Amino acid sequence: MFRSRLVLMITDISGSHIVNINIFFKRIALYLVLLVLMLIVFAFVSIGVFRSEIQNIAQSNLELVEEYEKLTKKNAALNQKMNQRIEEFELVGDRVEYLEGMIGVASNAEDNKNAENGLQERLDKASLAGAQKIFFMKFIPNGYPIDYYRRISDVFGYRIHPILKSRHLHSGIDFSAEVGTPVYATADGVVEFAYKGFNGGYGHMIKIDHSFGFKTYYAHLDQLIVKRGDFVKKGQMIAYSGNSGNSTGAHLHYEIRFLGAYIDPKNFIQWNIRDFDSIFEKEKKIPWQSLLITTRTMMEQMAQPSLQVELK
Ligand SMILES: [Zn+2]
Repeated sequence: MFRSRLVLMITDISGSHIVNINIFFKRIALYLVLLVLMLIVFAFVSIGVFRSEIQNIAQSNLELVEEYEKLTKKNAALNQKMNQRIEEFELVGDRVEYLEGMIGVASNAEDNKNAENGLQERLDKASLAGAQKIFFMKFIPNGYPIDYYRRISDVFGYRIHPILKSRHLHSGIDFSAEVGTPVYATADGVVEFAYKGFNGGYGHMIKIDHSFGFKTYYAHLDQLIVKRGDFVKKGQMIAYSGNSGNSTGAHLHYEIRFLGAYIDPKNFIQWNIRDFDSIFEKEKKIPWQSLLITTRTMMEQMAQPSLQVELK
């Protein structure tokens, strides 16, 4: 088979060279083909790499979307919780206001707005005031010494004796009541005296020694339930009323003394935690201010853990 050949002859001073052009072009063509093949391979590899990269990106995008949805849900849940907390907080605030109103702590609207005078401080104040009131109601005579009585047959005060025509002091309150009616201690204390006898006209009598200089007397009794040295709680039954001693009818003679002096029991009988402050106005013989400050200081110290002393 005949193949045409292109031959190039180059002549210079040293002689002539023959260059076969055909072979030269064939080589170039081979190189070109190789280059194209390499490019194609490179393209395929690149596409593969890009494809997996794209897949990775798509995957992480999916994950990010999921994460975002999770966070959105969490955010919604937290918002709901926060709203609940806000409602609860407002409710507590209302309760504190109610508490303050009930126990008579001055609830100053301006103070309440002040960040320093926060809810905790108001709660502390309210609970301290509440605790102090409960303390007073426990240790200082208050309320009635008898539940069932017909009427108050005699009040505290000076009167002219119907027979002797002399001025004398009725030192307590008389509750007209059937013999055998339960009689209760009006505050915590210790029984100083419990004796069946004439007792200078008092008849069968119990005397209770309370805190801060107060004493209560229960006279003309029938049966005594407690004895000298017994510690009694407020509201504890101590005796049954009677008609003993210098008495013209069945009744309980109830007496309160402060540092030995007679006190009108009327205001103390009507005294209760809802009307706590009333007695400070009505009963001027007791140094209330001093007693309030002393007990308040005592309670503030007890509320501080660092000052709590371990009993040994
Ligand atoms: Zn009396």
